[in-house]
Amino acid sequence: SQQAQPAAVKVLKVGAEATFPPFEFQDEKSKDYVGFDVDLMKAIGKQMGTEVQIVNTAFDGLIPALEGGQIDVIASAMTITDERSKKVNFSKPYYKSGLSIIVKADNNAIKTFKDLEGKRIAVQIGTTGAEEAKKIKDAKVREFNSASEAFLELKAGGADAVVNDLPVNEYYLTKGGSKDAKLVGEVLNAEEYGVAVAKKNTELAGKISKALDEIKQNGEYAKVYEKWFGK
Ligand code: GLN
Repeated sequence: SQQAQPAAVKVLKVGAEATFPPFEFQDEKSKDYVGFDVDLMKAIGKQMGTEVQIVNTAFDGLIPALEGGQIDVIASAMTITDERSKKVNFSKPYYKSGLSIIVKADNNAIKTFKDLEGKRIAVQIGTTGAEEAKKIKDAKVREFNSASEAFLELKAGGADAVVNDLPVNEYYLTKGGSKDAKLVGEVLNAEEYGVAVAKKNTELAGKISKALDEIKQNGEYAKVYEKWFGK
């Protein structure tokens, strides 16, 4: 007997460390994964004709998960670095970022990265923020699994500063963090986020870059950008 088969739906498994608002986080009510990267990957997936599924993964476990084939891509506010480019293929950049400092609202001693010398710095493990903090002379760097835990450590008085991506620091402050914390200093390093795919998967990186170009052309990228960052 011949039965119509449903069209095979290919699902793109997207690894993300999903406590990094506004890029990837869980909606409190629906528990759905939401954020800029999630909407961006949905728009890219639509362009490629695939569904996307978010796989919540520890930040320092993302590249191993990609290499092990548990996920197809990483979209997790991941900065394109030379070190990471040895292990993964990045798409074209999709977002410009940089590192910044958050301190307690009443801290007037720390105003620049130079002022972090000898200080206690909370960071997220495996991130560019962690790397930069470790370069600071005599700094005592404490690494947490998520940026939100680093913010909590600052609030609890266990750290003098958090070094983390500027848009995430800004989002934290606007969502209530500014009651007891503030942003100080210049933004360190121009960083760019990219979607990562496994080294062997050269074709997929090209497809994602092409889809990214297309959603920039057709206005979908701008819609997603406005939704999360305003105009
Ligand atoms: N952009 C930073 C990095 O790539 C932090 C990313 C993150 O914590 N999700 O290291």
